Amino acid sequence: MSTIKKIEAIIPPPAAHMVGDGFRVHGFFPGGRISKQRMSPFFLMDYNSKVEFPPTDKPRGVGVHPHRGFETVTIAYHGRIAHHDSSGNSGIIGQGDVQWMTAASGLLHKEYHEETFAKEGGMFQMVQLWVNLPAKYKMTAPKYQEITNKMMGKYQLSDNKGVIEIIAGEYDNAKGAASTFTPIQMYNARLKMDAEIDFKFPATYNTGILVVEGSVTINNETAQADHFVLFGNEGELISIKASEDTILLVLSGEPIDEPIAQYGPFLMNTMKEVQEAIADVNAGKFGVLED
Ligand code: MN
Repeated sequence: MSTIKKIEAIIPPPAAHMVGDGFRVHGFFPGGRISKQRMSPFFLMDYNSKVEFPPTDKPRGVGVHPHRGFETVTIAYHGRIAHHDSSGNSGIIGQGDVQWMTAASGLLHKEYHEETFAKEGGMFQMVQLWVNLPAKYKMTAPKYQEITNKMMGKYQLSDNKGVIEIIAGEYDNAKGAASTFTPIQMYNARLKMDAEIDFKFPATYNTGILVVEGSVTINNETAQADHFVLFGNEGELISIKASEDTILLVLSGEPIDEPIAQYGPFLMNTMKEVQEAIADVNAGKFGVLED
């Protein structure tokens, strides 16, 4: 017998800021009412709500920068993004695809609009998450998972009412494509108007839903596009009804119960480890990547 998961807050999009010149993001967390630990293992969520980029010959984006101690997960809804990193991985993702990059012990990378998309311009919409790693995995080797839409397990709603795309974890018998270091459920729920769907996550898991498109009733409250629904750690059941055609990013994960020391692109357990990361970058230990 499961009980209704309590909604703690429905958070409107914070004022947008630019990351490099290619990403205009609402930083939902950490910050505001969501502390560094509140959504653990998810540390950060930057949401680039829909924005139209004009054509350009010089792709917009973010130049070479380091990361250590966590994973970046980029989920594309509109537009195309190219990635290169110093461990030799690169890839391009487009609408419906996901890039799951494990920085772990450290790498340099750059993130740009894909060249053809940049040249043509157009609608751009995406999410970047920072997924924390437990201490025992922070210094493991970097890794890269390009998760095309095809690779994701899919749960079809009856009567063509939509599809749940499993990025990580599982739903019913559909399995996620990503391998994760801690238990994580991550779905894109693409729902037609009036579709109904239930999700069940343990009360102890930190859980949130971003309304990427459309609007829904969630446990009898209404959530509009670009809002983030933060659930309390009480109850398991989430009951959703789509008020119109809707896309939801559903996140739930087992918290990592460890101290967090963050500075810029480093996410460690102690400030001493952050200082080591900075020293290692300066010593060239994160490899080489051309701008
Ligand atoms: Mn980055």
